[in-house]
Amino acid sequence: MSRFVYADNAATTAVSPEVREAMMPAFCELYGNPSSLHKKGRDAKVALDGARARIAATLGCEPREIYFTSCGTESDNWAVKSGAALMKRKSGRTHIVTTKIEHHAVLNSCAALEKEGYTVTYVGVTPEGIVNMDELRAAVTDETALVAVMYVNNEIGTIQPIAEIAKIAHEHGALMFTDAVQAAGNIKIDIPALGVDMLSVSGHKLHAPKGIGLLYVRRGLMLPNLIDGGGQERGRRGGTENLPYILGLAKAMEIADERLADNPRVAKMRDRLIDELTSKIPYSYLNGSRTERVCGNVNIRFDFIEGESLLLWLDIAGIAASTGSACASASLDPSHVMLAIGVPHEKAHGSLRLSISHETTDEDVDYIIEQLPPIVKKLRDMSPLWEEAQRGGDTEHWGKVSKIR
Ligand code: PLP
Repeated sequence: MSRFVYADNAATTAVSPEVREAMMPAFCELYGNPSSLHKKGRDAKVALDGARARIAATLGCEPREIYFTSCGTESDNWAVKSGAALMKRKSGRTHIVTTKIEHHAVLNSCAALEKEGYTVTYVGVTPEGIVNMDELRAAVTDETALVAVMYVNNEIGTIQPIAEIAKIAHEHGALMFTDAVQAAGNIKIDIPALGVDMLSVSGHKLHAPKGIGLLYVRRGLMLPNLIDGGGQERGRRGGTENLPYILGLAKAMEIADERLADNPRVAKMRDRLIDELTSKIPYSYLNGSRTERVCGNVNIRFDFIEGESLLLWLDIAGIAASTGSACASASLDPSHVMLAIGVPHEKAHGSLRLSISHETTDEDVDYIIEQLPPIVKKLRDMSPLWEEAQRGGDTEHWGKVSKIR
């Protein structure tokens, strides 16, 4: 039987059996509306409150600081747009600081704000994909309303110094939001240590179902309502609560916390993939930091080939991977993250993201290491640019990025 290796966990994950189990009662037994006063409703309310409390415990915050949403994109939109609106109303500030490598949920929210008259500064990153702190310090001023910097990048897995950035934001009286969608399940999220005002999480990245997310909003921050309705979520996001998925998210976050102990094993598999693939395949380069990256992320650029062709051949070999973020993979534009770390436009298409998880085995890693090099070779053998490079032709524009980044 042919092998299947799922190495696209940063795009989404399978719902784990324990999570599915935790959700089941809420479909047919705990079906009451948590707002109803009868027993079925009260039972549902107890389950809802319990889930909120357990999630808050994993994040180190208070249950009333957790607001359930439908996904990471919704949480990001709410934080950026309502955070900006709040500060404009309170202090007249209309300046946002974010980075060039944010997810489009944040970038496009910022673009929408620009159309409304806000100004946005997009801070650059180092060639390793870490926020350029000098640039950030210079960008944040006493006119800044909101600083929005992601905790972990979805393409190259780099971990940003959020606590330090939050301190800078607060020194200038600005709000601090971090998109922690790719951090949850991969690293410990400790809200008091981060010192952020808002933080987003999405369930489907950590083995809960698609369609559930949350936004942490610091107590006392009067964030404008997202959905006006029947008073759910402390009146800020109306709509009958999605109890099955909320129970699933709570279970997934608890399991994720326990699984952090297994991170060194995953990091070892990640490092083996990086070392073996970059040594076996010529003209291959690690994208992002070698050290400041989550344990499951491998992102390698292979010159002289298109990432999309690589994906198709890997798919045939039974390996599911990605060229960038799943949401952007239908686009022909090069990844904004690749461009931000300095990969030239013409080379930015040749990157592959392998996102492994606690479910990945050493045998899966062996299989990727066995399958990938011949596929790269096959694609290069069909590439006129590769042929030109072999002949020592004019490939000057192919060699401007240093070997290990
Ligand atoms: N933020 C980051 C960093 C992500 O990686 C994603 C999804 O890829 C999102 C936000 C959006 O989350 P969702 O798919 O739950 O809307």
